[in-house]
Amino acid sequence: MEDKKSPVEKGAHNCKWAEPTLFEPAPEWLEAEDKPWTCHRDAVPKHLETTEVCEDCPRWEQRDETGQVKPKV
Ligand code: SF4
Repeated sequence: MEDKKSPVEKGAHNCKWAEPTLFEPAPEWLEAEDKPWTCHRDAVPKHLETTEVCEDCPRWEQRDETGQVKPKV
């Protein structure tokens, strides 16, 4: 039996650039109910209404084993 690895399913939950909007500073976290994830890939964070954009995002990068959400600058 072959040991095939499934391709990684890309999403906000496993992208190192995404952080739950609830963890954002005030007043940003108030958007969490409608926009549960925030993308920090660009200079200006972007709240995501859906994570569908992450499924085909060319800038998706898997989080490392520490689970650190957004890279510290
Ligand atoms: S839009 Fe792209 S870079 Fe941003 S959180 Fe989703 S997959 Fe990551």
